[in-house]
Amino acid sequence: MSRALTSTAVALTLLGLSGGSAGALEPTGSPGSTGSGDSILPAWGNGGYDARHYDIDLSWRADSRTVDARTTVTAVATQNLSRFNLELRGFAVDGVTVKVGDVRQPATVRRDGAEMTVDPPVDIAKGQTFQTTVSYSGKPSARVSQQLGKTGWLSTSDGATALSEPLGSETWFPVNNTIRDKATYAIDVEVPNRLMAASNGRFAGRDVGDTRTTWKWREADPMAPYLPTVSIGRYRMFRSAMDHGRIPLVTFVDTKLGRQAEARRTLPRVIRFLERTFGRYPFQSSGMVIDRIDVGYALETQSRPVMPFRAPSYLITHEIAHQWVGNSVTPRDWKDIWLNEGFATYTEWMWDAERFDKPATPQRQFDFLYEIYGPKSGFWKTPPANPGSVNKLFALPVYNRGAMALQALRMRIGSHDFLTVLHRWAQQNAGRTVTTGDFKKLAERVSGRQLDGLFRTWLYVPEKPKGY
Ligand SMILES: [Zn+2]
Repeated sequence: MSRALTSTAVALTLLGLSGGSAGALEPTGSPGSTGSGDSILPAWGNGGYDARHYDIDLSWRADSRTVDARTTVTAVATQNLSRFNLELRGFAVDGVTVKVGDVRQPATVRRDGAEMTVDPPVDIAKGQTFQTTVSYSGKPSARVSQQLGKTGWLSTSDGATALSEPLGSETWFPVNNTIRDKATYAIDVEVPNRLMAASNGRFAGRDVGDTRTTWKWREADPMAPYLPTVSIGRYRMFRSAMDHGRIPLVTFVDTKLGRQAEARRTLPRVIRFLERTFGRYPFQSSGMVIDRIDVGYALETQSRPVMPFRAPSYLITHEIAHQWVGNSVTPRDWKDIWLNEGFATYTEWMWDAERFDKPATPQRQFDFLYEIYGPKSGFWKTPPANPGSVNKLFALPVYNRGAMALQALRMRIGSHDFLTVLHRWAQQNAGRTVTTGDFKKLAERVSGRQLDGLFRTWLYVPEKPKGY
């Protein structure tokens, strides 16, 4: 039997057109949810499937700053599925196909803002793997919001950089745009020969043509959708490795920013330092992108953080710490963002302690902040584990009061147990999604203490804690 005949038979059966009793065995699908249920960003992300892998092929034109792209999303249906959504903002969608089993067929698409509804010609049975391929083109644009600043596809003087926390991925590929759906990625970027294209994960080589080069990147460890990046520009590329090749280091530096030798020397020292706290580095590659990007932040894009302009050691420490806390161990809900930012801030305090040989540094940071913010200060109005709204997601207290909460925990349970908790947190939850409740449970198990009060006071009550 030819493949084509099989396909038709399968298609007819799934459509319920084959008649007879077979129809009763076929799933009757219903639409996947158009939201994720996240408490802070409920409209983003979708239900009905679990994304497993993104294959992104992107060709960038320097003259028009446009993109020709094709992305294939491999997913598993978590219900009998009649239609489902992906997020994609802007672009002309040139075609969408859905492949179920061996059969690939065109699908109908409706778009409404960033919501793209895909109607496959046949329902997809629960548990079935399917591939959605979206071909699209146009000029990508940044996502600019008062609350979240500038994210997504950002134009730079010599190229572009995609920074996607929390929602920017939808400006450059179709995505299940929720923190709770991690997947692996293969990202290929074609650019003019004079430019380079960095991305996440392992460098898998480049195909050099007469005028254009395709740069290939593979992230084989699950990555949340706010962590992919592409960075195109005039770079110097530095390749080395640490621990006899265990972790390849690939760093890109804008040619106008020199060689950044000190930052490149600092990176492996920071990784080694953080391995003492959190255990083995969670990914198969590391490095940085140091570029001139007009945003007021650096980002922990998985395995290869992006630094705007410069990379001081505290910033390297913060973004590399996120590889464990945030990227490998990821909050299930944006309200738990302190599990990223409080922890990364705390490692900055630890790094300072290490560097200046002042073991009391985290305590001094704590005392300083406790002192300067009086009881009436707005600083205490945002509880780190319940920031409440999207405009508080990256507010200062999420970082600093979050780190203070960790120091309060350290004082309560002692340094030995505290460091055991941090290590186990990173190792036992590697590759997973987590909640603040999970962290409390672990701290209680390790210390043998009941920590309800401490967690409530430091993480959930919008008031200055009376002490610790
Ligand atoms: Zn951070």
